[in-house]
Amino acid sequence: MILAQLPRFHFSVFAKSPFSLSSSHFNFINPKPPVTAVRTLFQFAPKSSLAAVEPIPLPVSDASDLDDAPVEISLDKLFIPPETDISGDNPASLTTRILKGSNIVLSKYARDAQVVQADYVKSSVRTEDCPADGLPEFALVGRSNVGKSSLLNSLVRRKRLALTSKKPGKTQCINHFRINDNWYLVDLPGYGFASAPHELKLDWNKFTKDYFLNRSTLVSVFLLVDASIPPKQIDLDYASWLGQNQVPMTMVFTKCDKRKKKKNGGKKPEENIKEFQDLIQGFFETTPPWIMTSSVTNQGRDEILLHMAQLRNYWLKH
Ligand code: GDP
Repeated sequence: MILAQLPRFHFSVFAKSPFSLSSSHFNFINPKPPVTAVRTLFQFAPKSSLAAVEPIPLPVSDASDLDDAPVEISLDKLFIPPETDISGDNPASLTTRILKGSNIVLSKYARDAQVVQADYVKSSVRTEDCPADGLPEFALVGRSNVGKSSLLNSLVRRKRLALTSKKPGKTQCINHFRINDNWYLVDLPGYGFASAPHELKLDWNKFTKDYFLNRSTLVSVFLLVDASIPPKQIDLDYASWLGQNQVPMTMVFTKCDKRKKKKNGGKKPEENIKEFQDLIQGFFETTPPWIMTSSVTNQGRDEILLHMAQLRNYWLKH
C-alpha cells in the first residue's frame, strides 16, 4: 500500500509561514470558547527523547501492502496530540501508535469513535444560523468532485446521507449532520467550480471564510485533497489561507485507491501527497495532521473517526 511505497517519507524541519507576522505556532484544534488563550495548545506537545531526525517506520494500511518496504517519517513531521508523551517510546512501539496511512499519533483521548447515529439537521447560509447547542463540529471542505459526499457517506456508513447536501439549493449551504446526538459533521460548499459565476465564487468565499473564522464550536477543518492527481493551485491556496488564518486543519487525501493512472503522468497517490506536503510546508510552522483515504476501499475511515474522537474529547475537556 500506500505509504509503504513512498520513497522515504522524510520531511525537513519546521518552516515558518511566509504569511505569518507573529512567531506563534499554527495549531490543529480550535480552543473551546471562551478560552481563547489556548490557541497555542499544540506548540507544547512533548518532545520525544528520540533524535528528531530519527525516522519512524509508518504502519501499512492493509495486508496487500505487506510486501512493500515500510515508509519512514521523521519525528518532527508527526502530529502529536497535546498531553501525549512519546518520550518512552522506541521507534517500534511508536509505530504502533501512529494511525495507518497518516502522521497522526494516537492519544489517550482517542475513544468513542464509532458512529451509531447520523441525522441531517439543517442547512444554513450564515454562520449565525448554524445550530446553537454548542456541540463540537468538524467541517469537510474541498474542491468540487474531490469525493466529499462519498467520504461523508463512508464515515456515517450510509449510502445517501450526503445526498441531502447535494440537493439543489443546498450545495451552497453549511450543512449540519448530528452524529450520535453529541457532535456534528459539517458539509461545506465545494470550491473551484470552473463554471460558477464570479459573483457566486466570491459569495462562497465570503461565507465559508466567515464560518471558519467565527464558528466557535469548530474543532477542526478537514481539507480534502484528491491524491490521484498532482497538486492543484486552488487547493494549495486554500491550505495557505487556513494556515495564514490559524484555522486548525487536518488534510484528508482522497481517492488513494486510484493508482498509477497514465492520465496523471503515472504518479502514485503517495507521490502526489509528498509533492503537496512539500509545497505547503512553508505555510505552517509544524506539520498539520494528514491522512490517506478511499471511499472505495474504506481506507482511512476508522482512522479519521479516531482522529476526530481524540480532537473532540480533548476539546470537550478543555
Ligand atoms: P464531491 O463533489 O466532492 O461531493 O464528490 P463525490 O463524492 O460526488 O465524488 C466525485 C466522483 O469521485 C464520483 O464519481 C465518485 O464516485 C468518485 N470518488 C469519490 N471518492 C472516491 C474514491 O475514494 N476513490 C475513487 N476511485 N473514486 C472516488
